Amino acid sequence: MSECIFCKIAAGEIPANVVYQSDEMIAFLDIAPVAPVHIVVIPKKHFANVSELSVESDLSAKMLKVMAELGDQNCQTGYRLVFNTGDDGGQTVFHVHGHVLGQRALQWPPG
Ligand code: 5GP
Ligand code: ZN
Repeated sequence: MSECIFCKIAAGEIPANVVYQSDEMIAFLDIAPVAPVHIVVIPKKHFANVSELSVESDLSAKMLKVMAELGDQNCQTGYRLVFNTGDDGGQTVFHVHGHVLGQRALQWPPG
């Protein structure tokens, strides 16, 4: 998608602090972190949201694995994996992405 900011990051057209990359995925530091660890994980292929991605079971499983590994490696005392979805879910970029959040006590329930 030509106007999608995360497609541009995946293509290397917009710089990002990349912490993981494979043929299918890329993970980078969030530009406006809400926790000391705030990593965004995306498939390089464009899906609008987690509902669209979920149809691709192999890619979904791989993405969950990468997110869990990044949490395990970077957050010693626990972490949260989040897929904001739609307006009420707080989604602002409509290319599916998982947030890996940690290294501080996270509130529950979220606001
Ligand atoms: P959402 O609110 O859609 O769940 O999350 C989108 C996230 O992408 C936000 O946390 C926002 O800070 C991050 N973000 C938006 N644009 C950019 C960008 O150009 N670079 C990086 N690294 N993060 C971005
Ligand atoms: Zn995209």
